[in-house]
Amino acid sequence: MKKHIAILGSTGSIGTQTLEVIAAHPDQFTASVLTAHNNVDLLIEQCLKYAPVAAVITNQTHYSKLKEALAHTQTKAMAGEDALSEVVTAPEINIVLTALVGYSGLRPTLSAIRAKKHIALANKETLVVAGELVTALAKQHEVNIYPVDSEHSAIFQCLTGEEQNPIEKIILTASGGPFRGKKTNDLVNVTKAQALKHPNWTMGAKITIDSASLMNKGLEVIEAKWLFGLEASQVEVIVHPQSIIHSLVQFEDGSMKAQMGLPDMKLPIQFALSYPQRLKSDFERFNFANYPNLTFEQPDVKTFRNLGLAFDAMHQAGNMPCILNAANEIAVDRFLKDRVKFLEMSDVIANCMAKVPYVATPTYDDFVYTDAETRKMAEAICDR
Ligand code: NDP
Ligand code: MG
Repeated sequence: MKKHIAILGSTGSIGTQTLEVIAAHPDQFTASVLTAHNNVDLLIEQCLKYAPVAAVITNQTHYSKLKEALAHTQTKAMAGEDALSEVVTAPEINIVLTALVGYSGLRPTLSAIRAKKHIALANKETLVVAGELVTALAKQHEVNIYPVDSEHSAIFQCLTGEEQNPIEKIILTASGGPFRGKKTNDLVNVTKAQALKHPNWTMGAKITIDSASLMNKGLEVIEAKWLFGLEASQVEVIVHPQSIIHSLVQFEDGSMKAQMGLPDMKLPIQFALSYPQRLKSDFERFNFANYPNLTFEQPDVKTFRNLGLAFDAMHQAGNMPCILNAANEIAVDRFLKDRVKFLEMSDVIANCMAKVPYVATPTYDDFVYTDAETRKMAEAICDR
């Protein structure tokens, strides 16, 4: 039976690659829902090609264009943020792939889980902000969360068949980004163009800046804790510049398993959709001849403070990761607008973590409040 997929954020880097995976396996998958925020032209093009049941444009100003373009098709045009939470509950949908960027992914993900849809999770910020709430709700509704993030997919793949065996620790690999090896002094005046040049991956702007500052790895540490039910002390990071080993698991007997391959997000996307099956693919194969050296080094948390701040937030728990995330979203936005410097992003985040009121056991409303308060504070710091 074909799996019906809703792609939240179909016009982005993960969204477009998900459509490529679906197009390569028309007997396995069909795209039932597509959504975008601003890029209405690409959304229309995708709808005409994939004929989904519904399409959502969250920025309402583009609604009339979408509606007109889809008037004589089978695709229902919808608009606004609320439509995202509504559209994921459609009865035919089996899996919701969340490829929105940032906090905006939280509400539709919760809505999908309540409607008993399995989640293929790319939008790591959802688990960073409200990991306990999201994973508890998934358990309650017997919903699986399949990781799309390559490191978490690697761990998920290593754990398949090991369900009985407790994990001692997991080790997330990090490429180190474009500024690996640089010290604080070298980073004072780096530009957004330099930060947007990732050595191994082509991704959306926000995650690319997060990769340069190592915040991406920090967010992934918190994501991993929730996905695999670990204690904060069981998650480690190692820098591996070639991005061939995508992450490792160590079991209680000391044995370590790793998953490797060329960096290509289509593989983890496909595995999240096809699990437990592996589908034949024409993805480029890894060749040892091209990689005589796979190297590893400790992350430099002194220079890349964001990684340390993320570990702090994970240990403090409660709404602290939500504060970290919201402050980071504003800091990255302002860095991309040339309003704050690269290193100042960490100051904004540290400031918000020190000042926004801490809540030990937050409810959903506490997260909404924390996110809004943190954004206000971060904006005030960035824009003064
Ligand atoms: P992109 O910026 O490329 O795409 C984001 C998508 O979400 C677009 O479809 C965009 O629409 C839509 N969107 C943006 N803002 C909003 C909003 N406020 N409300 C609703 N929709 C919105 O991001 P990526 O694909 O790179 O990343 C998506 C998620 O996946 C992130 O959480 C990222 O951390 C994670 N991820 C990405 C990887 C990658 O290789 N790219 C790897 C691992 C994880 P529009 O195009 O109209 O702006
Ligand atoms: Mg990743």
